[in-house]
Amino acid sequence: MQAKIQTSQILNLPEFDYQTPASKKDAVGLLFSSGGDAIISAGGTDLIPNMKNGTIKPKALISLSRLSPEKESITADGALRLDALSTLSDIAESPLIKLKVPTLANAAFHVGGQQIRNRATLGGNLCQDTRCLYLNQSHGFQFVDACYKRGGDCCYPYPAEKRVCRSVFMSDTAPVLISLGAQLVILSNSGEKGVDINDFYTGDGLKPLKLGSAEMISAILIPPESQKMQCHFVKATPRGGLEFAMVSVAIALKIDGPDKKCGKARIAVGSINTSPLRAFKAEQEIVGHNLNEAIAAEVARKVADEVKALPHHGYSKGYLKQLVEVHTKRSLTAMIYPKEPLTHETSD
Ligand SMILES: Cc1cc2nc3c(=O)[nH]c(=O)nc-3n(C[C@H](O)[C@H](O)[C@H](O)COP(=O)(O)OP(=O)(O)OC[C@H]3O[C@@H](n4cnc5c(N)ncnc54)[C@H](O)[C@@H]3O)c2cc1C
Repeated sequence: MQAKIQTSQILNLPEFDYQTPASKKDAVGLLFSSGGDAIISAGGTDLIPNMKNGTIKPKALISLSRLSPEKESITADGALRLDALSTLSDIAESPLIKLKVPTLANAAFHVGGQQIRNRATLGGNLCQDTRCLYLNQSHGFQFVDACYKRGGDCCYPYPAEKRVCRSVFMSDTAPVLISLGAQLVILSNSGEKGVDINDFYTGDGLKPLKLGSAEMISAILIPPESQKMQCHFVKATPRGGLEFAMVSVAIALKIDGPDKKCGKARIAVGSINTSPLRAFKAEQEIVGHNLNEAIAAEVARKVADEVKALPHHGYSKGYLKQLVEVHTKRSLTAMIYPKEPLTHETSD
């Protein structure tokens, strides 16, 4: 029997104004003059589905489609500068990025599929909206009231909590850039400012980014010392391809001498909470130690205890905690005993 489709169930885009500025400066000017009614569209691979599902309802799109990204380069003080408009295919294929920060190239390569990566931008990946089983679908199919994130007055996964949204932030590149100590260059009408990526995510599913309505990410800077650290990224997915992560772990370590003494560590875990999480305490535990398998196991346990997983997309809190521990241990072990320059692993 054929199901009858109501108009509210069809994923049509609502009406909106559409502008294509000729520069980033013009784009933030248009955002400013819209008074918060407009939103940037870069690749549109996250935004357009969200508009079709009715979770984002901007009056106008400021499309960056006319703008070409600047090529990645090394600045005078040795930082690697990436244009936020670079596509994930650009990032994944760039010889300079593969040489300097191969984990970023690998994380970009494991976002979605090739068609998505050809359109999706690095800035859009860092600013994508949070996800929840109850959110990322047409509202017409739910036959229920709108949740807080849709502007309603309830939360389905956490019914007892008031005005809290625990939708999960699932960018693959964000944990890697956190592990690399990246700085974001934020552009607005009043010029550029630098923001540490650690301070960019709010942890509030309702408004996950510390970004004003007339601001955009213009570029990303990776400091020279991070380019010399050993790095590793794991994206755990059930099938291994074209999927959002259950958990991702990004680690950067400075490992010195034959004793493998750890001089510096950054450990970030993605896709388990409303923002990427940094394991600050576990990082302190590992610094100063000569690295070996026992340390890897101990630190992995500490990371799993420190970062709090929210159950999401059918994965329980306990399962996610276990995944964090297992993948952190495997990553650390691979970094301590590298068989070859190891930067990325997908797992199933
Ligand atoms: C089938 C499918 C699979 C996917 N798989 C993955 C995956 O495995 N991993 C993953 O991380 N993501 C995944 N995504 C989500 C999304 O495609 C990516 O995150 C993508 O990188 C978003 O980039 P975009 O340029 O298309 O962003 P857009 O859709 O254009 O924008 C997304 C959001 O970011 C804002 N924005 C865009 N650029 C900027 C900027 N420079 N400054 C400030 N705000 C900005 C927009 O206003 C919007 O709110 C998937 C999406 C689809 C449809």
